[in-house]
Amino acid sequence: MKQLQIDLTPEEYHEAGLRRRAVARAAGMAEGDLGEVREVRRTLDCRRKPLYHTTFELCAVGEQLPPDEVQGWMDRYRHVGAEAPRVAIVGAGPAGLFAALRCLELSLRPLVLERGKPVEERRRDVATLAREKRVDPESNWCFGEGGAGTYSDGKLYTRSTKRGDVGAVLRTFVAHGADPAITLDAHAHIGTDRLSGIVAQMRHTVLEHGGEYHFGTRMAGLKVADGRVRGVLTADGAVVDADAVVLATGHSARDIYTLFARQGWLLEAKPFAVGVRVEHPQLLINEIQYHGSGYSKHLPPAAYSLTTQAAGHGVFSFCMCPGGVIVPAATADGQQVVNGMSNSHRNSPFANSGIAVTVGLDDVGGDDPLALLRFQQQIEADAFAAGGNTINAPTQRLVDFLRGRQSSRLRKSSYLGDTVAAPLHELLPPFVATSMAEAFRHFDRKMRGFITDEALLLAVESRTSSPVRIPRDRDTLQHPQLASLYPCGEGAGYAGGIVSSALDGIRCVDAIFSCLPQRP
Ligand SMILES: Cc1cc2nc3c(=O)[nH]c(=O)nc-3n(C[C@H](O)[C@H](O)[C@H](O)COP(=O)(O)OP(=O)(O)OC[C@H]3O[C@@H](n4cnc5c(N)ncnc54)[C@H](O)[C@@H]3O)c2cc1C
Repeated sequence: MKQLQIDLTPEEYHEAGLRRRAVARAAGMAEGDLGEVREVRRTLDCRRKPLYHTTFELCAVGEQLPPDEVQGWMDRYRHVGAEAPRVAIVGAGPAGLFAALRCLELSLRPLVLERGKPVEERRRDVATLAREKRVDPESNWCFGEGGAGTYSDGKLYTRSTKRGDVGAVLRTFVAHGADPAITLDAHAHIGTDRLSGIVAQMRHTVLEHGGEYHFGTRMAGLKVADGRVRGVLTADGAVVDADAVVLATGHSARDIYTLFARQGWLLEAKPFAVGVRVEHPQLLINEIQYHGSGYSKHLPPAAYSLTTQAAGHGVFSFCMCPGGVIVPAATADGQQVVNGMSNSHRNSPFANSGIAVTVGLDDVGGDDPLALLRFQQQIEADAFAAGGNTINAPTQRLVDFLRGRQSSRLRKSSYLGDTVAAPLHELLPPFVATSMAEAFRHFDRKMRGFITDEALLLAVESRTSSPVRIPRDRDTLQHPQLASLYPCGEGAGYAGGIVSSALDGIRCVDAIFSCLPQRP
């Protein structure tokens, strides 16, 4: 077997015959002598003329490549009996799901407690939310099986490669139904249409191996004795006993933060970011990123990533969705929140991304742990009022935002609710609006044409990460006051995005395992 790195034009990359010829040439082999060829890595480089940097494994005719690592992946999950140590996992988002699967690898018994519904039922609630503009506080774009990860774009990019084995997370997704191509890309993408099937498949794995799932089960408290957590108290009055509890409730579980505050359990304010979603026609973004339209028929819808400092604040693009749609991501009545997602084919005519401004305690005043959460709640309430006391998205053309005037007409948007014209330059807190205006001018210098008549801004992008951290010990990962409680994932402030949340779920279960008096 030989490994080969080779640069291919988009045409060579996408046409099988051309690709095989280029690989043979680069390997110094006659095409007829070339046997199996397996792609193992690819990156699309668009800094100049678009080019794929690829890595292939290959062998000669009559030889065989070794099996890839996904084969036999499911054999790692062991059956856990009733006598196995019980780990209650609160929240079935990426952190909770990967924690549950890791329990099976270590012969621990996962009990998944999820306030929302199985993904098959959740799908109906999400559709109703946009149509009837009513938010079910237990079943929405953030709550329910798969968490915020289910109806997400499914971009699997993370900077947190030091926090664990990213490849293992990707292979777990593939073993549960994701396209094997996700293991090739530096910026892999699953797509909303595929994610729901994958999270259901993960549930089947957990149940088949002796774990439990309890839907419609909201954690309302903890069973604590002698400073140690012994289980979970549910909203309907039940007690779920457990040897350890993984708290993976995501950044929208405000009831969990208020529970901690009420009980006097340690919490910290955590800087986060707020802003808007900007939407352009995808063709325009393709032209800018691919340096003209000539290349785009061989290339995927183009993405971008922008960051700058403006008016003393970091401003950055967030969760960029090529060929995506904008979704209403509120979790209760009285809130207006937008986010973005896309299907696996990324085939909507729009490109959207969050443009978010960093916010810290200095910006909002106050020094209590919930000060930033209150700020987040206030801007969501203001956006809700500006939308006419419903989940209409207050919207403005980008050029009008920069000129400080309300838009008289809005073009069509992908937003799944309705848009209403609103003066976002006045609606957003002044430091957010000022930083964003300066940043847009900077972004236009990096991507000529970013500021255009066709760009819309929709409010408000406020759930970028958690505004609160639930602290934990650096080594044991347990809450400083509550032994056996493992704050985990994005809601606890230790992750941001699907992959880092998944890695954190795995880390927490490893920490539980290493603390067990007797290992199973
Ligand atoms: C529309 C959208 C698009 C996104 N796109 C991407 C993307 O492309 N790539 C990416 O990396 N990230 C994306 N994200 C962010 C990503 O989804 C989150 O970072 C990730 O899901 C966080 O994982 P988590 O498990 O920590 O929390 P969550 O996914 O938020 O899961 C928490 C779970 O806990 C449950 N829960 C909450 N409170 C309780 C309670 N009291 N009792 C029981 N259960 C409870 C919730 O119902 C939920 O299922 C997107 C998010 C959204 C909303």
